[in-house]
Amino acid sequence: MAGNGECVSIGIDLGTTYSCVGVWLKQKERAEIIVNEQGNRTTPSYVAFTAAERLIGEGAKNQVATNPTNTIFDAKRLIGRRFNDELVQSDMKVWPFKVVAGQGDKPMIEVTYKDKQKQFAAEEISSMVLLKMREIAEAFLGSTVKDAVVTVPAYFNDSQRQATKDAGLIAGLNVMSILNEPTAAAIAYGLEKNAGSDIYKTVLIFDLGGGTFDVSLLTMKQGVFEVKATTGDTHLGGEDFDNRMVKYFVEEFKRRQKKNIEGSPKALRRLRTACERAKRYLSLTTETSIEIDCLFEGIDFSTTVTRARFENMNMDLFKKCMELVEKCLTDANVSKSSIHDVVLVGGSARIPKVQQMLQDLFNGKELCKRINPDEAVAYGAAVRAAILGGNATKQIQDLVLLDVTPLSLGTSVEDGVMSVLVPRNTSIPTKKEQTFTTTQDNQTSILIDVYQGERTRVSDNHFLGEFHFANIPPAPARSPTINVCFEIDANGILHVSAEDRATRQTGGITITNENARLSKVEIDRMLQEAVKYRAEDEELKKKTEAKNALEVYVYKLKDAILDQNITTKLSLAQKRETEDAIEEAIQWLDCSRFSEVLEFEEKQHYLENIWNPIITKIYK
Ligand code: AMP
Repeated sequence: MAGNGECVSIGIDLGTTYSCVGVWLKQKERAEIIVNEQGNRTTPSYVAFTAAERLIGEGAKNQVATNPTNTIFDAKRLIGRRFNDELVQSDMKVWPFKVVAGQGDKPMIEVTYKDKQKQFAAEEISSMVLLKMREIAEAFLGSTVKDAVVTVPAYFNDSQRQATKDAGLIAGLNVMSILNEPTAAAIAYGLEKNAGSDIYKTVLIFDLGGGTFDVSLLTMKQGVFEVKATTGDTHLGGEDFDNRMVKYFVEEFKRRQKKNIEGSPKALRRLRTACERAKRYLSLTTETSIEIDCLFEGIDFSTTVTRARFENMNMDLFKKCMELVEKCLTDANVSKSSIHDVVLVGGSARIPKVQQMLQDLFNGKELCKRINPDEAVAYGAAVRAAILGGNATKQIQDLVLLDVTPLSLGTSVEDGVMSVLVPRNTSIPTKKEQTFTTTQDNQTSILIDVYQGERTRVSDNHFLGEFHFANIPPAPARSPTINVCFEIDANGILHVSAEDRATRQTGGITITNENARLSKVEIDRMLQEAVKYRAEDEELKKKTEAKNALEVYVYKLKDAILDQNITTKLSLAQKRETEDAIEEAIQWLDCSRFSEVLEFEEKQHYLENIWNPIITKIYK
């Protein structure tokens, strides 16, 4: 434990499959990646619900094989999306847990918790993971943590960023900033390479994680990190490679056994775990085996897979990554030869074929593997958190980040064509204005819809919301001038405002965010529930401790009663009374699942009241 009780801010890399938390240590002048209760530096982004409890992180992942339908992962792939989104629909086919359409087409995860059916939004599941990361940090720091920087893929759109911020709110965190993952990784790289250096560097960050892919091009000089271009895919990563493998082996099982395992969440989950493990081995060896006992209807599954086969299954996805790298270079107008370093980030960047294709793309240039691909993002987030939280030391206090917006923002004009106000890769924060007017005489309000994306027609882009500007004084068509302002803050989050130039009126604007976004009322409800769940977790922890204490005491007594040095000094009645009490306690413990802390404590006091007078007399 760091243990000085000082209130510090933390950096959280909220990953699709694993999350990581870091803190800047003033005394050591570096960020520390904090280990969880199992001693691991990354924690599975898993949440599980059982008849008795809620588990987050390691505990949740460890029981996934026995409780597949109530163990949730991949919440990041759902966040800020609609149920009918093509990608959500395709993911649902391979998830063992159930996702249903909620209000406004919002995807809701359905589980059985404490024998009741419950629905959770992706933000709530993510908030539980954030809470876990906060608790890991609190255990290490020995103080309460309130402020955090949370990272997101650079290519996340406005809804996904807002939803991540909401997840932080529900976890009771003050999200000081939403930081782009590749930018965070660049900070880690920059510090390792001495950010204060005078040398101007152009760096490409290749970040291929569990569920998302980002590629960013940055320049660095004297502690100024400037993103020149960013691109990516918020639905491309290790999970997709696992999915391909799962599908491949489902077919193999069908062929060999004439049976389809797709209807069995448990079998699918076990196959997926084995595939993920095989994928990791294939980064080290050229062939590996998959052995699963009783996979389906008592039939064992035993097979081998080569690296070449794995590469073949995913070649189109690997190629897509390379195309996006090319796009990023084109967007930034930078040639391959002017890149000083190509930095690998994210667990999936360990795949040899991906590394080879990337190296070939850069004409054989050695790739930079010096920074830890699993921890670099949290490291950078911890640095940013220290700066924003006032805990920075000399080494980092003057560090400047200049990021860009990943996607264009605009409104619809005639025939549903997108009129772009903020083109992608514009430096943020930014403020862009455009004037609008009425089309009819005496029109008193106008509707402005907001879209994000690169397609020509708004219907192909992501609808963010719309707002009505009302109370325009009656006037002939096209005479009022309404100034609409799109402002993107340093978190990449959009704020829209409008003003009637003639009246200077700015009111009457409401962004009716797309329905998939949580309302203030919903967030408040989830916040209250999160507090309730945390209290329940706390209660369960106390209960487990009390039960443990009683068990330890009972077995200590049992040992004592078998110890010849003690037992020979007991009367027959004392021995019988103690043995009966032990037996009764053991039986009671066996069916104590629903007992309360007080009952465990009372049982222990009862035993102590029998045993303490006996043992005191013996040793008097
Ligand atoms: P991240 O989101 O950066 O934690 O990346 C997690 C993803 O990286 C998961 O899909 C893992 O299966 C994948 N991964 C981790 N290590 C390896 C490895 N050695 N080879 C291939 N994929 C890996």
